[in-house]
Amino acid sequence: MRTPRTEGVGVMSGEIRTGVPRPQDGSAASGAPSGPVRREEAAWESAELAAQNEVFERRGGPAEDVLVWMANRYRPEVALACSFGLEDCALVDMLSRHAPNVGIFYLDTQLLFPEAHATRDRLMERYAIRPLRILPRLDPEAQAAEFGPALWARHPDACCAMRKIQPLQAFLATQRAWITGIRREQSPTRLHAPFVEWDRQFGLAKANPLAAWTAADAWRYVRDHAVPYNPLHDCGFPSIGCWPCTRAVQPGEDARAGRWSGFAKTECGLHQ
Ligand code: SF4
Repeated sequence: MRTPRTEGVGVMSGEIRTGVPRPQDGSAASGAPSGPVRREEAAWESAELAAQNEVFERRGGPAEDVLVWMANRYRPEVALACSFGLEDCALVDMLSRHAPNVGIFYLDTQLLFPEAHATRDRLMERYAIRPLRILPRLDPEAQAAEFGPALWARHPDACCAMRKIQPLQAFLATQRAWITGIRREQSPTRLHAPFVEWDRQFGLAKANPLAAWTAADAWRYVRDHAVPYNPLHDCGFPSIGCWPCTRAVQPGEDARAGRWSGFAKTECGLHQ
């Protein structure tokens, strides 16, 4: 895997197909990522992030301050993970205003809704960005040939491991920090998400500038700044992933009830 250029939004472009090793013994089915070696956690860096997080906690962020601190601390080796959901669209706008030299990447599972691609194109046009496209080792047809059809309907953890976690791990091995759009309110597993932290799973610094935002905050920002967003959000899809694993939610259902419906699974494994 070559090292991508990440000098900024305007130059982070192209695509990478990640060449992680083929699972020999079905280990991918466990969801355990394998591949590039993580950066070792440095005690001083963890302590620095924890201290800075306390500062942000006292101030309640704000999101823009978290973003700018992260950009100044880690660029050019820091990038925004964008799935073209509402929060990520807000962050793309925020980056363009406050830290335009931070790169943007997305995990193209090749099972995204057409609306996600259309949202990407609208963001590219509006902000003159060229997000880096990260592809899994196998396209869906090759995955079906190796592991059987519709793996997501039988072993969604294995499918997420191959199409999301391993590609992300391979890309993050080239970075020192990443930025996400997760919010504490989204799910119990995200309830304690800090603003900045050492990410032990992937071995680099991580920022969650919108940690303290509510869904209403995200909508307010997007509307106030006329940010392009995925039209599926207006059709009962508060959380949008791959098309085989995402359905609209009914009134009264949890916002993430439409993800992996029928399975106990609530996260793809990118955020722990
Ligand atoms: S969300 Fe579904 S289709 Fe997408 S990678 Fe995970 S299991 Fe596969």
